[in-house]
Parts: sequence; structure tokens; C-alpha cells
Amino acid sequence: LSLFPREEEEEPVAAPLLSPPREMASHIVGYPRMGPKRELKFALESFWDGKSSAEDLQKVAADLRSSIWKQMADASIKYIPSNTFAYYDQVLDTTAMLGAVPPRYGWKGGEIGHDVYFSMARGNASVPAMEMTKWFDTNYHYIVPELGPDVKFSYASHKAVSEYKEAKALGVNTVPVLVGPVSYLLLSKPAKGVDKNFSLLSLLGKILPVYKEVISELKAAGASWIQFDEPTLVMDLDSHKLQAFTEAYSQLESSLSGLNVLIETYFADIPAEAYKVLTSLKGVTGFGFDLVRGTKTLDLIKGAFPKGKYLFAGVVDGRNIWANDLAASLSTLNALEGIVGKDKLVVSTSCSLLHTAVDLVNETKLDKEIKSWLAFAAQKVVEVNMLAKALAGQKDEAAALKGSDHRRATNVSARLDAQQKKLNLPILPTTTIGSFPQTVELRRVRREYKAKKISEDEYVKAIKEEINKVVKLQEELDIDVLVHGEPERNDMVEYFGEQLSGFAFTVNGWVQSYGSRCVKPPIIYGDVSRPKPMTVFWSSMAQSMTARPMKGMLTGPVTILNWSFVRNDQPRFETCYQIALAIKDEVEDLEKAGINVIQIDEAALREGLPLRKSEQAFYLEWAVHSFRITNCGVKDTTQIHTHMCYSHFNDIIHSIIDMDADVITIENSRSDEKLLSVFREGVKYGAGIGPGVYDIHSPRIPSTEEIADRVNKMLAVLEKNILWVNPDCGLKTRKYTEVKPALKNMVAAAKVLRTQL
Ligand code: GLN
Ligand code: ZN
Repeated sequence: LSLFPREEEEEPVAAPLLSPPREMASHIVGYPRMGPKRELKFALESFWDGKSSAEDLQKVAADLRSSIWKQMADASIKYIPSNTFAYYDQVLDTTAMLGAVPPRYGWKGGEIGHDVYFSMARGNASVPAMEMTKWFDTNYHYIVPELGPDVKFSYASHKAVSEYKEAKALGVNTVPVLVGPVSYLLLSKPAKGVDKNFSLLSLLGKILPVYKEVISELKAAGASWIQFDEPTLVMDLDSHKLQAFTEAYSQLESSLSGLNVLIETYFADIPAEAYKVLTSLKGVTGFGFDLVRGTKTLDLIKGAFPKGKYLFAGVVDGRNIWANDLAASLSTLNALEGIVGKDKLVVSTSCSLLHTAVDLVNETKLDKEIKSWLAFAAQKVVEVNMLAKALAGQKDEAAALKGSDHRRATNVSARLDAQQKKLNLPILPTTTIGSFPQTVELRRVRREYKAKKISEDEYVKAIKEEINKVVKLQEELDIDVLVHGEPERNDMVEYFGEQLSGFAFTVNGWVQSYGSRCVKPPIIYGDVSRPKPMTVFWSSMAQSMTARPMKGMLTGPVTILNWSFVRNDQPRFETCYQIALAIKDEVEDLEKAGINVIQIDEAALREGLPLRKSEQAFYLEWAVHSFRITNCGVKDTTQIHTHMCYSHFNDIIHSIIDMDADVITIENSRSDEKLLSVFREGVKYGAGIGPGVYDIHSPRIPSTEEIADRVNKMLAVLEKNILWVNPDCGLKTRKYTEVKPALKNMVAAAKVLRTQL
């Protein structure tokens, strides 16, 4: 008798008959930071303007974090993330954690504070911001780390640990999330002056000691899980890069012992090679996959999944706003359960919810039926929990939830000649990208008109005055091709969506774009068409105010598509072609109204590019085709511009040429002229091109010399007769006090250069 373990005797008799309530295994990869009504944005901007204190900002941030944690805890989420909050960006947070501050920001050591952090993000009076670039194929942007052999890494931001402790003090034991060390390096670039071929991965051994310090503090603070986001694993990585993951996690293995480790991947199917490497990593407890984008990962898991490991199954789409098809998710989960085992399956989101809108409760004006099809971040948290519960056997809950190739006939150089005869522009013509500063007064007018507080006549009068002001200003500045300033537009996609059929709108469906900036994507739920002209009234009014050419200003079909939440019951390209046909009607109406230059913005063409190479060609084909559809019907003398921002174009330059626009203006100044290297390498480019000469995302005013210097660098690579001089992007987020001197210097630079050519 004495051989029986003591516990056995003490166990209550009835216990074996009761099935203990199964823990609901649910996980959220990450959560939006801005708040349901963009509270963080307003707190940040007021702090940057010196209107509130650091404490005020910190208080808003802490309140947001605590309400998010509480919300997830209330929804019985088991694995709740921390450190997915950021004042600006999670990659920049990692740069701060590693003390990898570029020397020009004057950091003197110690814990990195708001001043150094925000200087890196936004620049300051004397130093421009660090480069910002797209986060994979999303519309989120991150600050690109600048690294080299001499960077001295040190543990310089304790944010991950303090957020973990903060949540714990609120009674929530979270999973702290770090950008994984290998993805961090792969997302970096060599600093200025460092050999372009410098192997960023060679820094692994230098950053891991900092990660180890963070890990050991998290352990000491009581963490039981840790999540490393390694989304680069879904890219087409060569074996050398894959090897770095093996290397990194085996070096971390002993520090991580005693912790459960989750490696999270997202945004695409994971390649078979990467899957093998990932699932063989030492010391890892669980793997997270995006099971919404693509279906091949599912096959890999079905083929082989390591015994005893956790699978975090990302079945709730973090990148869209549609309610989950719970029955379909459940059948996927049921199949997976058979492979990984009941207690090893965790229901999760496909990626961080950062990329969807925050909360549907604030959408009081949305059509009821449309609303029933939607789920924003807060609702997705509930969906994850419902699926986990359903999986745990409480299926009744799930049951209740059911719910020609269109090319212009003449080639571009002949067209440019015909256009020049009509437009008679100087060499190095100057222009801007479209919007001018949007004042508080302007926003008020639009709001009041929308709320029917002012009449249509009053509205038209106010906008007309604004256009007139912008036209006069550009004439004073002596800009060559003018814009009307877009005062009637709140957003370049929403403005068109509101006038096209097939679109619906939310009131608070905001998604973070970069820093404090958010966008509110429309929802394309039906067939798209254009009931009547959308921009002709304002553009022809603007043209009537000046003898100079006035650009008509449209958003292109691919950008409208990529910046909307798109219906998922038909292929994306079909929806895109529908939009293209609607924009084509608009282009032709503008031409008829006497507008000779029409800009069709395709700011987001690059970001829709699938991450996997095998899918890119098809996307580019229909995307570029859609753009050509919009303007294939215009006369040779009508000049078609397009504009793109925040993108790397080197790999898609041939598709850009294939768009066959007459002039392209393009973001450039924050990408260190990477763009120019394409032309340096001999790509033939015959159309007009205006690489941005200064960064409009920073309040800094560029000098004439600096701009002239930039243009000279371009002239070394591009023919002088195709080069345009313009800012990086629209001016809508800047103030007039910044825009006027900057444009003055820009025009002065063009004029100086003209005398030298
Ligand atoms: N025409 C738009 C503007 O100037 C373009 C904005 C953009 O590229 N994001 O605001
Ligand atoms: Zn732009």
C-alpha cells in the first residue's frame, strides 16, 4: 500500500467521471496600437507639436495597452501578446532595444528616450529621418535599420520587459513578442559608407547577446512563453539565409531553456525548404503559420509536423475585415487536430491584427446587412475564442455563428514630342504630386458639408477659394505644371470610392499606415461602376483659373484595389478590371473637358506584389494591364502621369515601363537613391521621370543647393530631357510654412540647373 503515490489517495473519487473543462487554446499574433478612435495618433501629434507632455502621451499609451489586454483576457484568449504596442514602429523599437542608433542622432548611451527615438523616426531640425519602407506586402511601413561592422550593440531599451511587467501588474500574463533576430537583420540595410555587399547576417553574433539579456530579464519577470516574429521565413530565402535561423536559435537555445518559444511566420505560404528548417529548430516549442494566404502550408503540415510541438494555426484573417467563415475554419482546425494532437493545437490569427481596422462597435452608420459580414480586430479576437471553444467541444456555439492588351497606339517618345508641342514646357519642368496642405479650416468645411450644416453653394465657394489660393501660390512660385491641391478630398481612395458604386464605408475602421498616420479603407462589396463624372467639375474649374497646364488628378485602379478591403468571392483581378473601366470613363471625360495632363496615381502598385516569386508575374500582368486600360483611349497629345510612393522598384522596373505612362513621379529621397541604380545599371527608360527631390514626410526644409545636388545626381544617370523636378509625394500632411520655402527652393534649384544645361 505504501507504494502508492500520495497524490493518488488524495484525488477526489468523482474526478475521473467529470471531464475537466478543457483550456481554450487561443492566441493573437499582435494588435493595433492606434486605439478605436485613433487616440494614439492624436496624443502623438499633440506631443510632437509641443502641446502636451511626455507624461500625457505615456498615459494615453498605457490606457490603450491596458484596455487591449483586458479585452483579450475577457475574451478568454490564452496567449495574449505584449510588446506589440509601439510609439512609432516595432522594427524601430528593436533598433532601440539593440542600441543600434545611427551616430548622426547624437545618442549618448543610456536608455533610449522619446527624443532620440522620434528623431530616428521623423528626423529633427538638423538631421533627416531614417529610411522608411513597406512592411512586406502590407500598407504598414517600418523604419529600416542601418547597420555595419562598427555598430556597437547594447541593451538600450527595456520596453519589452516593462510592457510585460505592466500587463502582469494588471493581472494578465502575456506572451512578450520580439522581432526575431534573423528577420531583423534581413530587413536592415548597410549604413552609409558601408560596403553594399556587407553581410548583414554576419552581425548575428553581435546582436544575440542583447537578445539573451532581454530573454533573461523576461524569464526573471515571470514570462512562460516568448514569441519571435520571423516573417522573412515566407520569402524565397537561399540556403545561406536559412542557415542563419538554425544558427541563431541554436545559439539562443540555452538562454531560452525554461521558456516556451513560439516562432511566428505570416503573410504567405512558407516555402518547403524554410518549413523544414523552421520545424527542425532547437529549443522551439511552437510554430505559427498564416493559413489564410495560400494553401500550401497546410499541405506541408499534413505531410510532416514535429511530434510534441504546438501548432499556432492562423485561420482568422488579420488583413481583411470580413467575418470569418467559422464552419470552414473549423473544418481546417479539425483536420489539423488529427495531425498535431488535441492539446497541441492553438487557434490564432493569420498575422498581427495591426493590419485590420480596430473595432466595429463604433460603426453606427454602416448598413446593417453589410455590418453583419464584417469583423474588425476586436471582433476577430472574439472569433478566435469562439473557434477555440468550438474546437474544445462546445460546438453549439459555432453552429449559432454561420453565417486586346489596351496599349496606346503611338510609342512614348513620339507622344512626348506631340505633348511638348502643346505644353511647351521648359527643360527640367517642375510640378508637385497633387495635394497641398490641408488646414483645420478646410477639414471643417468638408465635415460641415458632409453633415449638411452648410449648403452646397457655400461648400463650392469655400473649395473654389482654396483652389484659387493654391493656383495663385503655384504661379507665384513659378511651377510649370500645376495641381488644384485636392482640397475636396479627405483621402485619395475614399474620395473615389464614395462616388463609385459597389463601395461601403466605415466611420472608425482605421488601420495604421506609419507612425501616427492611419487610413480608413473602404469596403468593396459589389460590382464597381461609375454613375457620373467624379473630378471633372473641380479640375476644369481649376484649369479655368490659369493659363498653365493643370493636372487632372485620379487614383488608379490597382491602388484603389490595394487600399480597400476587397470582396473575396471573385478574383482580385476581376474587381480591378471593373475599377479600371470606371477610371477610364473619368480619364476620357477629363480629356473632353480640356485637361491635357492627367495624373493617375498608382501609389500602391508595388505593395500588392505577392511575396512569393512564383505569383508575382501574374499579379504584375493584370495590375499593369488595369492601369493601361484607364488611359488607352486618350489622344497622343494628352500627357498621362502616374505617381508611386514608398516602394522599391528595382525588381519591377520592366513592369513599370510596361505601364506606358508618359511621365512617372516616384518616391526617392528616403530610399537613398536606390531607384537610380536601376538606370545606372543600364535599364532603358524613355518616358518622363521625376524621382522625388525631397522628403515630404519630414518637416525639414531642403535647401536649394541640396536639391540641385540631388538633381545633378539624377542627371548623371538620366537624360536631361526626360527629367522632372518634384517632391516625393503629396503635400497634404505638411504645413504651408514648410511647403512654401521648400517649393521655392525646389523651383530655384531647377532654374539654376537649367542655365547650366
Ligand atoms: N495625388 C496624391 C497626393 O498628392 C498622391 C498621394 C500618394 O501618393 N500617396 O496627395
Ligand atoms: Zn506618393
